[in-house]
Amino acid sequence: MTSPHPGPKSVRTVDTDSDKGKTDGKSMLRQKDRERYQRQIGLPEIGEQGQKRLGRSRVLLAGLGGLGSVLAASLCAAGVGFLRIADRDRVELSNLNRQILHWTADIGREKTVSAGEKLAAFNPEVVLEPRQIAIAEDTVQELLRDCQIIVDGTDNLESRRVLNRASLKTGLPFIHGGINGFNGMLSTFIPGRTPCFECLFSEFGGGSGCPSVLGATAGIVGSLQSLEALKYLLGMHAELLTGRLLIVQGRSMTFRKIRLEPNPACPECG
Ligand SMILES: [Zn+2]
Repeated sequence: MTSPHPGPKSVRTVDTDSDKGKTDGKSMLRQKDRERYQRQIGLPEIGEQGQKRLGRSRVLLAGLGGLGSVLAASLCAAGVGFLRIADRDRVELSNLNRQILHWTADIGREKTVSAGEKLAAFNPEVVLEPRQIAIAEDTVQELLRDCQIIVDGTDNLESRRVLNRASLKTGLPFIHGGINGFNGMLSTFIPGRTPCFECLFSEFGGGSGCPSVLGATAGIVGSLQSLEALKYLLGMHAELLTGRLLIVQGRSMTFRKIRLEPNPACPECG
């Protein structure tokens, strides 16, 4: 399989002059958007106003691995307006069983470039900002600039701790997911409203390093995280996976939710 044409390395703008005649004031979607998103605009929870809301949404996606590939594709397909995608790694052969945005011809390339060009071809309406950079204390504030939500596509504890601290500092929601083998878990952390990632980690452990994992597991958990992100961006805040941890056990096809209690001794939020 060959890669599509080279994608952008920086922010693109997408409103083209050719579309201007097809809009009817501020309240209307462009005709091509109406058609692209037709099957979700028909949902009463979304409609044209919800689609416009998604189009104005700004997301930081940290990590472009197994979870991040699925998250990026899902958020792009749904028409999120702005997606900042951050990862410091290059594509390796052993990534390809699960990191579906990276293909064989991409081995050795920067993940942000590999992912960016597929996403740009997939949905040119989305403004992408690829950032080939580590998720660290000295980079995260700038990575979060002007974003509404932090989505966790990382695979290690330290990055998640950095994202959690940034979430607590800025008040932005943090949608965490983790996978291992056939299993995964996720939760949506909202500062001031729920326990934080550190509360969870101190009780259950946060998953770290590069576990053995199936691509299908990344697909399930990444899709569920993207559903949470879209619900948040659409304003469906009463129905989020907040204060609970969803545990997915793929071998037995068991999905169960357990209540998360704040840890009074949490070093981050306690
Ligand atoms: Zn906490």
